[in-house]
Amino acid sequence: MLDFWYKKLPKHPKDHKDFWRTKLIAHTLLLASCYFVILTLLNIFYFSSYDIALFDTVGLCITLAVYSWFTKTADVNMAAWAVAIIIVSLIMLFVISAGGRAHTLFWATLIPPLTFFLVGRTWGSVLSGIAFCICAYLTYKQQQQVITIGLGSLFNVIEVSIAHIIVFRFYEKTRFSAYQHLQARNIEIQHLAETDKLTGLYNRQKFDQTLSLLLADNKDATTSNSLLICDIDHFKNINDTYGHLAGDNILSTFATVLKHKMPTNSLIARWGGEEFTIILPNTTLTDAAELAHELKQYISEQKFEDSFFTISIGLTELHCDDTVKSSLERADSALFTAKSNGRNTVYYSDNNFKIVAYPSAS
Ligand code: GH3
Ligand code: MG
Ligand code: MG
Repeated sequence: MLDFWYKKLPKHPKDHKDFWRTKLIAHTLLLASCYFVILTLLNIFYFSSYDIALFDTVGLCITLAVYSWFTKTADVNMAAWAVAIIIVSLIMLFVISAGGRAHTLFWATLIPPLTFFLVGRTWGSVLSGIAFCICAYLTYKQQQQVITIGLGSLFNVIEVSIAHIIVFRFYEKTRFSAYQHLQARNIEIQHLAETDKLTGLYNRQKFDQTLSLLLADNKDATTSNSLLICDIDHFKNINDTYGHLAGDNILSTFATVLKHKMPTNSLIARWGGEEFTIILPNTTLTDAAELAHELKQYISEQKFEDSFFTISIGLTELHCDDTVKSSLERADSALFTAKSNGRNTVYYSDNNFKIVAYPSAS
């Protein structure tokens, strides 16, 4: 409904430092304009106080001039100062003109939340300090008077309470919005920190971390968990023959195949250039070796980027006294044996640290 008022104002993204300040300036200028229009009309037609009506009209003109200037310059700092001065003058003129009577002093309590937000801690403190000194002086002047609580007092207290609720709702909204934004950013940063950019798989850091947690959780060896290292055979030749970009495509296609072929609860990571590590939770060495064998067979029969390639796999079961290093070392020696024995093969390190081919030759 009030789109026309907000349309011309500077547009900032929600995470911009001036987003909420611009909103507060826009809301305040709108409220001040409405306030001055109503008071001008009331003073002309109801109270016939033409001098006060003239004062309100001047206030309206100043408010509209600040609005118009702000829409043209988009200078948030200057607009914030202008609005802060309008608010403080408006409230203090009202309080002083009422001599602080009828609980008008309550209006001054709106000055700190608004000025702190608009012009910062230092100037917010200065403006609030000045306003409260004036209030203290007005109270001092009233000390011999009998305070009566009439309808005017009641209205002032109710109006200021409503204004406070609106201001603090605004504050809470800015805090909540900043928190949500930070939370989304944190998730984004965490995702970037643990993901390999090319394949979208977890990276080495996340892999090592997860493996370490799994080993710590399974100190009593209640479940069997296995660890695989897959390495693409002669990948350097693929790069040399088809180019680095084709090599990249093969790496990301291979990552997709891994995601489809491995159980959903497995953790797959790109450990290095063309080396991939997989944790298979709740999987015995025999089941893991069978899965590795099927994967190796599947890859050797598929055409990728108009070429065929093969993989070698080394695997082991995790022991209860394992560390990240010891378990990776066992799987890596099995992989080394797979490479030494002609590639396109699966080898595992058994519970006696013996390296055996899968399926066995016999
Ligand atoms: P092996 O069978 O013994 O594993 O031989 P290989 O050629 O696969 O292994 P080597 O370690 O000699 O070479 C690995 C190659 O992987 C060399 C490197 O240029 C390539 N490589 C590493 N990271 C990337 C990458 O992100 N993209 C591409 N296209 N190539 C990569
Ligand atoms: Mg290789
Ligand atoms: Mg390698």
